This record gives sequence, structure tokens and C-alpha cells, in this order.
Amino acid sequence: MSEFNSKITAQKCQKLADEISSWVPLDENLYNAFAAVEREIFTPKGFKHQAYKLDSLPISQDQWISSPLMVAKMTLALEISKSVDSILEIGCGSGYQAAILSKLIRRVFTVERIEPLLLEAKKCFKTLGISNIHTRFDDGQKGWRDYAPYDRILLSASVKKVPEPLFEQLGENGILAAPVETGSKQVIMQFIKTKNGIRVKTLEECLFVPILDGISR
Ligand code: SAH
Repeated sequence: MSEFNSKITAQKCQKLADEISSWVPLDENLYNAFAAVEREIFTPKGFKHQAYKLDSLPISQDQWISSPLMVAKMTLALEISKSVDSILEIGCGSGYQAAILSKLIRRVFTVERIEPLLLEAKKCFKTLGISNIHTRFDDGQKGWRDYAPYDRILLSASVKKVPEPLFEQLGENGILAAPVETGSKQVIMQFIKTKNGIRVKTLEECLFVPILDGISR
């Protein structure tokens, strides 16, 4: 990319961060993460011109790149502090959410059940020089045992009920955020794992694609 183009892109990212922060309060780290990640890298060819709007966009395989505002809300639900070292995301999709997390957390683990999507996302991470995202092609409902426990877990696809292995793989005092289906609606739910069990908080309405069983090549 020429110096001129990269300056323009940096301005677009910053404008996006400004727009998100007019809706939700972004701390400095999260603002800087949005300002640093070029969303257009994750958007499909015909939609590059819409990359810096607050919309979700279709990607391949009938899936969606989440709206940046939803990415911000899910990230805020995780209450990421300095002591947070690892996160597991279920539903890598385009990889944009994982890229934002990679600016905030030392180790990001992300699982995707559609192989071509994961291959695309990995290319994007490489293009952006991101090296702290570890990817796995699998049904994420099982989690990723090898690196557990995680300080945070994020579901980027909706569930009726959070799969039990994910709670098992969450560290003590860890937070899991998930879009949970309740009747015809979905809400962001925050689960905190304490010594005495799981504490649950319902945040706000959201819209995600549902979690599906098995893998697809
Ligand atoms: N995080 C993405 C948005 C993901 S859309 C972004 O930032 O753009 C939800 C993703 O979850 C889809 O890619 C879908 O294939 C994936 N998914 C659904 N069920 C899954 C499962 N059981 N395991 C892993 N990924 C799953």
C-alpha cells in the first residue's frame, strides 16, 4: 500500500473508532484497537467501500462479518483488564473480532467450523502482521482443551445454552460472553465463574448467526 493510501486507511479506521465511541464508551486501549485494525482487509471484495460503516456485511459461506458496534459491545462485555492473558473465541468467521482482541490480549485462540473461512481469516492476520492469534478448525462447542483454562471466552455465534465444556475451560474469575437465544430474541449474556458457581448478567439485545454442529470443509 502506498504511504498516501495507508494514511487514508488510518484516518478511516480512526473515524470508525470515533463513530463507535459515540454509541458506547471505549477505553483508550479499545479505541486504539479499532483505530489500528483495517476492517477492509476482512470485508469481501464487493463491500470494501462499506468497510468503515457500522453494518454487518455478508462474507462467503452464508456467514457475516459482525458489525463493528457489536464487536465493541461483545468486547466490552468481556471486561478486559491488564491481567487478562488469554481468550478463546468460538466462531472466527472473517477474523475481525479476533484481530481486535489481538490488540488487547497477549494470546488469542479462535475456532471456526467452516474451513475456507478460517483459511481466509488466517491470510488476513498474516497481511496485517498479527502473530498472536492461534486458529483451530473444529466444532467450537467442545472448546479447545489444549490451552485451557482461558481468562476469557467469547461466543461469536448464538446458543440456546452455553455448552458445558466452555464453562469447564474458563479459568476462575474468568468471564464468558455469549449471544443467547431467548424466545424470538437474542441477548448478550455475561457469565462470571466464581468459587461459588456461575454469576449471570443479561446485557442487551443482539443478533448473531446460530452455532451449528460439526465441521464443513
Ligand atoms: N467473529 C466473526 C463473526 C462470526 S459469524 C467476525 O468478527 O466477523 C459466526 C461464525 O461462527 C461463523 O463463521 C460460523 O461458521 C461460526 N460457527 C458457527 N458454529 C460454530 C461452531 N460450532 N464452532 C465454530 N464456529 C462456529
